[in-house]
Amino acid sequence: MTTNKKISFMRSLCMGIIEEDVILPFPTLNAGEKETLTSMIDSINGWLKGKDQEFRKWDRQGEMPAEFLQEMRELGLFSLIIPEEHGGLGFHSAAYSRMVQEIAKHDGSVAITAGAHSSIGMRGLLLFGTDDQKKKFYPKLAAGEMIAAFCLTEPGAGSDAASIRTKAVKDGDSWVLNGEKLWITNGGIASFFTVFAKTEGPEGQMTAFIVTKDMAGVSCGPHEDKMGLRASSTTTVSFDKVRIPKENVLGEVGKGFKVAMKILNSGRTGLGGGCVGAMKKCIELASKQAKQRVQFGQPIAEYGLIKQKIGHMVVETYAAESLVSLVSGLVDQGYEDYAVEAAISKVFGTECLWRTADEALQVAGGNGYMCEFPYERVVRDSRVNRIFEGTNDILRLFIALTAMNDVGKQLKELSSSLDGIFNDPIKGFGILTDYAFKRMSQATGVGGAKSAFTKLSPQLAGAAVIFEEGTRDLALAADRILRKHGKAIIGKQFATKRLADIMIDLFALGAVMSRVNSSIVAKSPTIAKELEILSVFSGQVRRRTKGNFGKIDDNDDELIKSLADEALSKEGYSWDTL
Ligand SMILES: Cc1cc2nc3c(=O)[nH]c(=O)nc-3n(C[C@H](O)[C@H](O)[C@H](O)COP(=O)(O)OP(=O)(O)OC[C@H]3O[C@@H](n4cnc5c(N)ncnc54)[C@H](O)[C@@H]3O)c2cc1C
Repeated sequence: MTTNKKISFMRSLCMGIIEEDVILPFPTLNAGEKETLTSMIDSINGWLKGKDQEFRKWDRQGEMPAEFLQEMRELGLFSLIIPEEHGGLGFHSAAYSRMVQEIAKHDGSVAITAGAHSSIGMRGLLLFGTDDQKKKFYPKLAAGEMIAAFCLTEPGAGSDAASIRTKAVKDGDSWVLNGEKLWITNGGIASFFTVFAKTEGPEGQMTAFIVTKDMAGVSCGPHEDKMGLRASSTTTVSFDKVRIPKENVLGEVGKGFKVAMKILNSGRTGLGGGCVGAMKKCIELASKQAKQRVQFGQPIAEYGLIKQKIGHMVVETYAAESLVSLVSGLVDQGYEDYAVEAAISKVFGTECLWRTADEALQVAGGNGYMCEFPYERVVRDSRVNRIFEGTNDILRLFIALTAMNDVGKQLKELSSSLDGIFNDPIKGFGILTDYAFKRMSQATGVGGAKSAFTKLSPQLAGAAVIFEEGTRDLALAADRILRKHGKAIIGKQFATKRLADIMIDLFALGAVMSRVNSSIVAKSPTIAKELEILSVFSGQVRRRTKGNFGKIDDNDDELIKSLADEALSKEGYSWDTL
């Protein structure tokens, strides 16, 4: 087992190196956490079961009642990640993610209310808080006496978080904060805010602060009227000359952007867990519906097209669950560089849920469209997952550009070690990668006669070949894309997205392989079905990866851009058949 906790599986993979020790064996929960989690899951299910009509009512009202919030407090739903010595349940990433999964099986709004508190609202305190800050706030946060919110987005700063205008100015021993934050989850019920503000100075451009509701000048707007997650609170939060004591700086002055990114990375498996929970609910709903509904003389469950949908839901749920569990396992094992892997789990999980929710609604037909049934609510609730906590588009750019940056650096180093043979590292990439790839093959076995995996069961040999071929395609794709576009890659988003999609697929496949391998080792009674899932998923990954690789050179990118430019210039569609 590797002891180097600085390794990132995906960043290594982009160099053609399969760090199997990072993903094998598949992570498991420790016995103590498992026990607490199991009893907590039982309580949650006992409490939330049968409340579907209430969830529907609160969704229509756009608010959950104060008494229900009180029940959430009493059940400990705001204490999940707070250390036990401070009155919390002390869940680490995997147990926390599993807990959010369970809540999300019942209702998205409840999951996001508890999730925003722990995943992002107070996570900065957990990651960066001083002992004094923790002592002061943990007990109140654990009891839900204080609910937490994460305040980054502003009217002019969404994806471009660095462009925030909320400003904090040092005044004696305190800071004075002015500005407005937008679409803040839990905004209307929170009294603990992690706020990001510009603090221009030699230390840096942005600082994170703990702001509490009782500080003069803090206010929130009305609940937003949203498409989904309607019973959860989303409001503006404003700061008018709010005086913050210097003890409330979170992390270092000037390092707020890093604090924000670390919080989001660390909290991603909460959202991922929520997606998995909602997918499991969709499978349950769709299966029951398909067996009950009779058309053309038999239950629709008998028809191939219904089975096709449900079968794919199962494969996607297993893959997303494996990926989210693997990433939370990496966090819990102390891996430091998991930003790319966490971003992949967010993109993959949220998109699997979107397809699964849509297909579950399709299985239900007209019933699916009626508010009387839960399908439309799940579809509405799941849509925002692809937007918040970093849009999936921005995360794809992050995933691929991180990889290309690494590959670019490595090739540059190689270029100089070859003593000026390749004066232009960009033009030399092809040859350099051949060289680098040969070297990597010797070191790792990728692309060679022997498998790069040494710890996989022989039953996974087929998937291992697909993974290794995909790794080779990934390295070649990074090379081809960089060679084609050079430094202009930053502006080549079609190409960047393709690389990200290859990376997403490969990491998901790695997670599924790792999990199935552990099931084989554990002689799981469900192994035959898990091997079927692996067979389907690895085939999908092989086909998609080849497709994406082929599209690097054979694509319609310029034509699509031209058509978009036409629509953009006319601000609409240019044709009519009249
Ligand atoms: C229900 C809800 C709850 C939320 N909760 C919180 C919260 O608790 N705290 C908080 O701080 N924020 C919260 N947000 C805000 C959320 O994080 C932002 O909506 C998100 O970061 C995207 O920003 P934006 O909406 O301004 O979109 P924009 O940044 O304006 O993006 C619009 C579109 O352009 C794309 N785009 C932007 N830049 C680029 C680029 N360079 N290249 C290619 N495409 C690009 C995006 O991917 C997106 O598709 C919440 C939002 C919602 C809807």
